[in-house]
Amino acid sequence: MAKQKFDPGILREYDIRGIVGKTLHLDTAHALGQAFGTLVRRNGGRSVALCRDGRLSSPQISRAFSKGLRQAGMDVQAVGLGPTPMLYFAERHLQADAGAMITGSHNPPDYNGFKLTIGGKTIYGDEIQKLGAIIRDGNFSSGAGKVLRRSVAGGYAMRILQDADLARPLSVAWDPGNGAACPIVERLTRRLPGRHVVLNGEVDGTFPNHHPDPTLPETLEQLRRAVLSEKLDLGIAFDGDGDRLGVIDNKGRVLWGDQLMMLWSEEILRRQPGATIIADVKTSQTLFDAVERLGGKPIMWRTGHSLIKAKMRETGAQLAGEMSGHIFFADRYFGFDDALYAAIRLLNIVARSPRSLADLRDRLPETVNTPELRIECSEEDKFPIVASVKSRLQAAGAAVNDIDGVRVQTADGWWLLRASNTQNVLVARCEANDQAGLARLKNALGEQLSASGVEADVISSALGEERTAA
Ligand SMILES: [Zn+2]
Repeated sequence: MAKQKFDPGILREYDIRGIVGKTLHLDTAHALGQAFGTLVRRNGGRSVALCRDGRLSSPQISRAFSKGLRQAGMDVQAVGLGPTPMLYFAERHLQADAGAMITGSHNPPDYNGFKLTIGGKTIYGDEIQKLGAIIRDGNFSSGAGKVLRRSVAGGYAMRILQDADLARPLSVAWDPGNGAACPIVERLTRRLPGRHVVLNGEVDGTFPNHHPDPTLPETLEQLRRAVLSEKLDLGIAFDGDGDRLGVIDNKGRVLWGDQLMMLWSEEILRRQPGATIIADVKTSQTLFDAVERLGGKPIMWRTGHSLIKAKMRETGAQLAGEMSGHIFFADRYFGFDDALYAAIRLLNIVARSPRSLADLRDRLPETVNTPELRIECSEEDKFPIVASVKSRLQAAGAAVNDIDGVRVQTADGWWLLRASNTQNVLVARCEANDQAGLARLKNALGEQLSASGVEADVISSALGEERTAA
């Protein structure tokens, strides 16, 4: 029976994710379909939009999940293969009461999972745990829903293109990484003016060319070479399910999430003075300062796409973004994280400027910062370590922002330490005005980790040796 095989470990903070055949079985998908259908029904819903990514296991998992939904009385509006933002679009467009995306996002090919929404809101935390309780108790609604096949890819691509406004044609390399964004990238590039080079544009769940995760610079290497060798204006890469992007400028350099946010914020604040803009705790201070300087209201918020979307609704923010490349436009759009839409809004900015993207990047404020640093740490230790660092700092009267871990402001800049919600790591980042300041921040961080019992070799492998220079 399904219940015997259910591993509650797959129910995570923001989504459901497991290894196919190990922690995620067809029985699991079926039980989750029944449980999610039950939850939607308790919320008064009758229909669920269903989409899947291009992984080899996705069609089977989707069928099992769909069967569970129908047995719980849900009508299933099946939209087939597409990126996660297409599911969000479909939920609205088809007026479904809920949405389910079968995706392993950027994880290796043997992973798969679910992103679930009810009433346009991504469920997380306790709501996800409720599914486990429904399965444990076998407390399912019953009924006989129908499957309705729907085609939304064309409508979705047209909605994105509606906001394309390219003042001059651009030459662009696109790398959907053989992931679920491929069919939409094809539709967009067919209609956009200019020259478009698509790499890895065939859906292939084995990801034969590179891992679809644009936060890892090595996955952008093929795109970088294409931009340089073909002398293109820029390159854009998507993660496996199209809700995150990475960007390469015409000099072959990566633009990180917070640098891109600076460009989009400027554009929005010119039209909408006073707009609220949200960015996660990993984001450069220069973004918050720039939004303030341009007359906007910056808000620093917790990392996690579900949490950011909830904060956007609460504050009426026009734009939000995470360092990881999740970008959310409410200005002219729906407010969900859609990397394909964000790409179009970037093309608009580059096309309208007489300068290149590299020039636009070089105008941004200079800082010296680390990328996201990952410190290996057991699941049991990660939260207590952050709590002990926080209490020591607060006792010492440090300027600490504790909305998500600790973000400490000093005369040199800031450093962040937080427990990852998705992996057994502590995540850190430091940013200063100059190298000497950065070394001091890394030292301060290293001392705190050491005082909380993290081994010296673990600290130095994460922070590097140069931190001892100051
Ligand atoms: Zn993703």
